[in-house]
Amino acid sequence: MWGWMNSANSVNNNVNKPKFIVDFMLGRLAKWLRIFGYDTVYADRSYPENIILTSLKENRVLLTRNTGLSRKRAWKMVLIRSDKFIEQAAQVMKELKFNISEADFFTRCTFDNAGLKAVPAKESIKSKVPEYVYKTQDKFSECPVCGRIYWAGTHYGLLIKTLKKASFIKLNLHVNKLTSMTMKNTL
Ligand SMILES: [Zn+2]
Repeated sequence: MWGWMNSANSVNNNVNKPKFIVDFMLGRLAKWLRIFGYDTVYADRSYPENIILTSLKENRVLLTRNTGLSRKRAWKMVLIRSDKFIEQAAQVMKELKFNISEADFFTRCTFDNAGLKAVPAKESIKSKVPEYVYKTQDKFSECPVCGRIYWAGTHYGLLIKTLKKASFIKLNLHVNKLTSMTMKNTL
């Protein structure tokens, strides 16, 4: 009934990358999965039926802390045990057997899940970012949906520290990556 839709609305460049639908109790995890570049629907206002349906329709792994929801038949599901983000991410990666890749970081808007587009000439976004950012940064990305601008920033160091502390993540991290004006709130 809905199998034909599987690839039509996928924005992932790698078809093997898991896609997620995350229940309302896991908002922080959803945001982080987007920061890591994973296509993630955050089901904050959805009824359980809609969550299950979206999981099935779009082949999304359901991440939930709701044991009631976990008894229903989603496409694939991970019942999250911890309330700590790092442990949640570790559980997801362990159970689904995948690692995050630095190349995918900040390729997706953390607010609406859209794929970010590189800004070809920074003059075009001058009015959208603080002056000191415009002066000190050269690489910017823009969300085609909400228009938010992302750039390399100091909060990235904090992200690296957090991830390194979580020894389950094996990464060769560099310092000059895109981050967003909202990283401070995310971490
Ligand atoms: Zn956006």
